[in-house]
Amino acid sequence: MLRAGIVGLPNVGKSTLFNALVANAKAEAANYPFCTIEPNVGVVSVPDERLEVLAKISSSEKIVPTRIEFVDIAGLVKGASKGEGLGNQFLANIREVDAIVQVVRCFDDPDIIHVSGSVEPIRDIEIINLELVLADFDQVEKRIDRVRKQAKNSKEAQAELTVLESLMAVLSEGKSARQVSLSEEEESLIKSLGLLTRKPIIYAANVAEDDLATGNEWVEQVRKFAETEQAKVVIISAQVEAELVDLSEEERQEFLASLDVEEGGLKSLIKATYELLGLRTYLTTGPQETRAWTITAGMKAPQAAGVIHTDFERGFIRAETVAYQDLVTLGSMNAAKEKGLVRSEGKEYIVQEGDILLFRFNV
Ligand code: GDP
Repeated sequence: MLRAGIVGLPNVGKSTLFNALVANAKAEAANYPFCTIEPNVGVVSVPDERLEVLAKISSSEKIVPTRIEFVDIAGLVKGASKGEGLGNQFLANIREVDAIVQVVRCFDDPDIIHVSGSVEPIRDIEIINLELVLADFDQVEKRIDRVRKQAKNSKEAQAELTVLESLMAVLSEGKSARQVSLSEEEESLIKSLGLLTRKPIIYAANVAEDDLATGNEWVEQVRKFAETEQAKVVIISAQVEAELVDLSEEERQEFLASLDVEEGGLKSLIKATYELLGLRTYLTTGPQETRAWTITAGMKAPQAAGVIHTDFERGFIRAETVAYQDLVTLGSMNAAKEKGLVRSEGKEYIVQEGDILLFRFNV
């Protein structure tokens, strides 16, 4: 399962946000009786409006959304890359995630101490990013030493060296490696390094409830910064999300309406994280369940079938396919069949976002 790590300075609202994530996940845990939850890992459903629509068409008994994991990576402080605090452990945790959500404090509250004395989101971002940059710097430096020797006799090592040097140029200015644009081929040369500052990132601007609808000056600063990295910004209010957890549906609606918003930002954050990972969703639907499955872009039908079960991949024969929009427009699978919109696809078919699939396979 894909993992996103939540990072940020102390007292920016990480735990509040993470607890809200977990509380929502627990409410749904009935769907996943066999899932064990580690204290710092929350498994959350990815909101997908299509599921409700399809479940109605198929009269499905239940809906199973696709999921991602959020890991609370506490303990990043200045000096982490030099082993301060939980430094190294912390960096190792980040190395394992597929994407980073950096919570940035964009609310003022005299009662909540700010570790650096004042609310100043860009400085905060830079403190965190610098630790990650330093860790990457060390790694790239070591790698360069090794590859330089090989580069004399190897074209591939030479190519890698060029890429490493372009990364080094940016890292040594204290900037994130994601600012370097690389071709797919170049990317593959350095993939095994697992660079922290090349992982996709979302900045979660944590605002006070009154700013949730409009944002504020701090959010604008974060946006400006994020643009330099082509990163995304999502406005959330961790505190609003924490309060929503204990409310009834009716009370939730009232509370959100009073703030002039539809949600506290958590849903947007989960969706944005999923999209950030470059994932695609295909759907299966029937009387038992309507379900979303996660694949990566470009996956072919047999591999996509393998996400459900390895037997499906091994014994793959064909996939019956209809696009979500076609099915919804026509209202039923039979109507879609009559119009010739249900196709039979073979092994080379590249599954598209929103495909509804039914696999034929040998056991
Ligand atoms: P962490 O150290 O980053 O995990 O921060 P916490 O989630 O523990 O939050 C630190 C304090 O800030 C807690 O007392 C939270 O209740 C409070 N807090 C979190 N988000 C907000 C917010 O949006 N507004 C205000 N006023 N307080 C918040």
